[in-house]
Amino acid sequence: MEKLVSMQDICKIYNPGENEVRALDHVSIDIYPGEFVAIIGQSGSGKSTLMNMIGCLDVPTSGTYILHGADVSKLSDDELSDIRNREIGFIFQGFNLIANLTAKENVELPLIYRGVPQKERHELSETALAKVGLEKRMTHRPSEMSGGQQQRVAIARAIAQAPPVILADEPTGNLDSASSKEILGVLKQLHSEGRTIILITHDNGIAAQAKRVIRIMDGKIVEDFQNSGETLKEEEKPKPAENRSEQELSQLFDDAAAVIGKENRPDAQPEKQPEVQETKEVEENGRE
Ligand code: ADP
Ligand code: MG
Repeated sequence: MEKLVSMQDICKIYNPGENEVRALDHVSIDIYPGEFVAIIGQSGSGKSTLMNMIGCLDVPTSGTYILHGADVSKLSDDELSDIRNREIGFIFQGFNLIANLTAKENVELPLIYRGVPQKERHELSETALAKVGLEKRMTHRPSEMSGGQQQRVAIARAIAQAPPVILADEPTGNLDSASSKEILGVLKQLHSEGRTIILITHDNGIAAQAKRVIRIMDGKIVEDFQNSGETLKEEEKPKPAENRSEQELSQLFDDAAAVIGKENRPDAQPEKQPEVQETKEVEENGRE
């Protein structure tokens, strides 16, 4: 199968000379169509630099990068921008939506830049928004949507013209855990439909959801392995209520008591047991 991303011996050096930073140090990566790859590393390890290279936002100091059959290591800015628009769908941590445009207009914007005719633009954006479950939010502006919904708009924007590579840089970094799950669910769905996804993260739990994990440290690839399905399922399992520790249960009761007033604490008035149980249920539902 033809490689989508093929990096050979890539180095990126910032500030060449005395204070030089070797952000990428002889990195070689091959990614094939249909893969779901997480690139993981700590802050400062070189993730963003690598993302900039993969996404043709910057060029390496040395080495070769073949993207979808084209050598992009030595292209001009204009040529880079062309290939970027054609080959890559970007998803960023901060969503990067335009505030005064609707969801549909946000998704259509890159299609306008690509010269897609209006009718096709409407079809592509509506299909993409439906794919991420936002068919009822087409005319909403970003401020009228939750963080998870905004990131789904950004995903719709990234996939609208079916680019060969979807490149996501910390896509759940600004989201709570429920919305993060939702976004990972969408990415997994896209992967199961055959899309190629490269996800950049510092979070092991998120990387564990990908099929393949590449670990970067000090600008070098230090690990590259396939995840087993079992690991993935275990990660997804919610914690069953009966496994709550004494401490957590006691905290739940305390929280509940604070809501309805101290007189209803189970230890203060044990005879009001039914009310307390009701309260606990309310508290648990409140955490959904
Ligand atoms: P990460 O995204 O994993 O946090 P980065 O790719 O942003 O890591 O940075 C890798 C290294 O390169 C860090 O030491 C960082 O300080 C340095 N670096 C990143 N961008 C620049 C730049 N434009 N100029 C100089 N040094 C940079
Ligand atoms: Mg970074």
